[in-house]
Amino acid sequence: MLRSGGQYVQRRAKLVETVRSNGVKDERVLAAVGRVKRECFVDQALQHRAYEDQALPIGLRQTISQPTTVAFQTWMLDTQPGDSVLEVGTGSGYQAAVLCEMGVRVYSIERHRLLHERAKAILNELDYRVLLRVGDGSLGWPGLAPFDAVVVTAGAMEIPKRLLEQLREPSERKPGGRLVVPIGDRGGQRMTKIVRTGPDSYESEERGMFMFVPLVQS
Ligand code: SAH
Repeated sequence: MLRSGGQYVQRRAKLVETVRSNGVKDERVLAAVGRVKRECFVDQALQHRAYEDQALPIGLRQTISQPTTVAFQTWMLDTQPGDSVLEVGTGSGYQAAVLCEMGVRVYSIERHRLLHERAKAILNELDYRVLLRVGDGSLGWPGLAPFDAVVVTAGAMEIPKRLLEQLREPSERKPGGRLVVPIGDRGGQRMTKIVRTGPDSYESEERGMFMFVPLVQS
C-alpha cells in the first residue's frame, strides 16, 4: 500500500517554493511538480526525505533526480500539451510523472529491468499513462519517432547522435524537436539543449552545471 497522507501536502507546496526560488519560473512546470507525490517514488525508508530538494538513492547505484533538476529539465523541454516526449532513464518514474502532469504523451526507456518494473508498478498505481521499455535509451525509440522533445536523465559524455535524428523537423504547425541532455564526465555535466531547426540543422545552448549518474551506452 502507498502511504501518501495529508502530511505530505504541505511539504510538497514548500518544495514548489524551493524550486521556484532556485530559478524555475514556469508556472505550468511548478504546478506539475506540485501535483506529483514524490514520496511514492522512493523507498519507504526514505519517504520522510521525499520533499527535500535532493537526489535520493533508488537502488542499483541509481538516483531519483533532485526536484529542481527535474523541473529545470522539464522547463527546458518547452512542451505543449499533446506533445510526444521521450525520456531516457526512467529510474524511479518521477520525471515521467511530472511530464504526464504537463499533459504530454510520455515514452520512457530504462536499462535496468528491476527499476523499469518498479517504475511501471508505481506509475500504473498512480494512474499515469506512460509507455515504458527496457533497453539502451541512447539509441532512442525509432518506431515512435519523431519526438517533440527528448530528455536524457543521465550524464552523457557526448551528444547521442541517434537521439538527434529522432527529433521532429520544424513545420508550419509545430516547432522543431528539443533534446535536453547533460553533457560531461563524472565530475559534472553541462545542461545542453539542442533544437532541430531543419532537416540537417540544429542549434544548441548550454545552461549550468549538474551532477547525474552516467548514461551507459551499449
Ligand atoms: N528520471 C529518473 C532519474 C533516474 S537516474 C527519475 O526521475 O527517477 C538515471 C537512470 O538512467 C538510471 O535509472 C539508469 O539506470 C538509467 N540509464 C543509464 N544509462 C541508460 C541507457 N543507456 N538507457 C536507458 N537508461 C539508462
